Amino acid sequence: MIRFGPAGNANSFYEAGYKSSLEVPQYLASLGLNAYEYQCGRGVNVKKEFCQQLGEKAGEHEIFLSIHAPYFINLGTGDPTVMESSLRHIAKSLTAARDMGATRIVVHPGSVGKGSREEAMTRAKSLLARVAEELLPSFSGISLCLETMGKLNQLGTVDEIISLCQVDRAYIPAVDFGHLHARGMGAITDLDEYEEILNRIDLGLGGGIVQVLHVHFSAIEFSRGGEVRHRTFAESEYGPDFQPLAAIIARDSLTPVIISESAGFQNEDALVMKEMVQRQ
Ligand SMILES: [Zn+2]
Repeated sequence: MIRFGPAGNANSFYEAGYKSSLEVPQYLASLGLNAYEYQCGRGVNVKKEFCQQLGEKAGEHEIFLSIHAPYFINLGTGDPTVMESSLRHIAKSLTAARDMGATRIVVHPGSVGKGSREEAMTRAKSLLARVAEELLPSFSGISLCLETMGKLNQLGTVDEIISLCQVDRAYIPAVDFGHLHARGMGAITDLDEYEEILNRIDLGLGGGIVQVLHVHFSAIEFSRGGEVRHRTFAESEYGPDFQPLAAIIARDSLTPVIISESAGFQNEDALVMKEMVQRQ
């Protein structure tokens, strides 16, 4: 089954009078959506009871739950303090995911820092190896989705993400096509570019990962440094175009989880994408 849903809560959710994220699963189901990425970008500040309740509601309304881990995580850091705090943020995200029954956690690899990209990649791989050894055995069934990033000074090209995911089977890509479009200065213009990205992941990671890919999608504004800000489909001057990806998903019968990160209009744009796939 293909999953479509928002990252966090859209403006329309609050405008409709809702307040608590516990009301989200029912609301999303009423719209025809079936995924929800719960945002812990500013830290995992959720009680166990809340997580369990959200998990129950999601189960009741057949909503696929994922978590976005804190932005403070920096896998490639050379600073031992940041390394330890990154491990703590990952541990807390894993605990929240287990309490919710969420099976995917999206993680930003972090910035390149002062040295070379290669050095940052080496450090990131050894930190991921530590996570796999020290934390993951207690959290079986949960994948950490390493996200492709939109700014040039961040780790997170397609090849870097593939290389990081090769550390352990629990690591899978979160492909943010808006980010890739931004860091490539508008690189994604037609079906060939989507296909090339998917083929590269298939080649590097195999195991049918492309079949059940975790996707972030939104229109995006970029400048020389890459990503500036997320936009919406209504702002049609911003790409990339979802249509070619919809065509590939339908043609190959892929069953991804597609999370809309449109600024404020995540629910609306998730529905636009759902309709595009259905129209193929
Ligand atoms: Zn993200």
